[in-house]
Amino acid sequence: MIIAGNFKTHHTRSSTLKFCRELDRYLSSKKDKEVTIFPTLSSLPYNDFAHLKIGAQNAYGAKNGAYSGEVGADQLLELGIKTLLIGHSERRGIFKESNQLVRKKFEFYSNEGFEIFFCIGEDLPTYQSGKTKEFLFSQLDRIDLEYPKLIIAYEPIWAIGSGESAGLEQIEEIHSFLREIGVKTSVYGGSVKPSNAQDIMNLKSVDGVLVGGASLELESFCSIIG
Ligand code: PEP
Repeated sequence: MIIAGNFKTHHTRSSTLKFCRELDRYLSSKKDKEVTIFPTLSSLPYNDFAHLKIGAQNAYGAKNGAYSGEVGADQLLELGIKTLLIGHSERRGIFKESNQLVRKKFEFYSNEGFEIFFCIGEDLPTYQSGKTKEFLFSQLDRIDLEYPKLIIAYEPIWAIGSGESAGLEQIEEIHSFLREIGVKTSVYGGSVKPSNAQDIMNLKSVDGVLVGGASLELESFCSIIG
């Protein structure tokens, strides 16, 4: 089971390190859990924990260069980081990342052999108009779904940070649709918390969860991991 925590712009360098060390200890007795933490870029520790992976929430599609404010592959690889979150709805919404830019990042980092959590998800009007599947399909346009280290993260924007996840039926329907179009591995994100995580992870077509708010406290994240 895949369980990932996206810290967004929370935690400092020292609190991230403390969290990861304690989580690593907790995970030493857990088998079959594939846990990744995505800290803020300035708090990225070395990816050298025994039982969890460190990933980056964002990176530019280049090894290095004149891209002020961004990090590239060289900076991540120096820290042993080979896991990346691409296309989070906050990147797409607040920072205006287009499908084209997101695809370029995917192409660059898949060529570099990174594991990629590729986020997709519809907004509320799209959901309400019943056009979710077409919309998700368009976000995956020209993404190589055969890439073996690709994890699609389905995160309906209307569920992120709202306290209410999508319904179990909706989650299963979308993940089984993703299977039909060739996605091999997919996780759900959007208000996952200790009280609903197990039901979501028990769904047939769901391979895990991507957790935002409820990953920030160690106790809450550990109770999602189980
Ligand atoms: C996210 O932003 O990736 C996310 C899933 O957030 P939350 O769990 O807080 O809804």
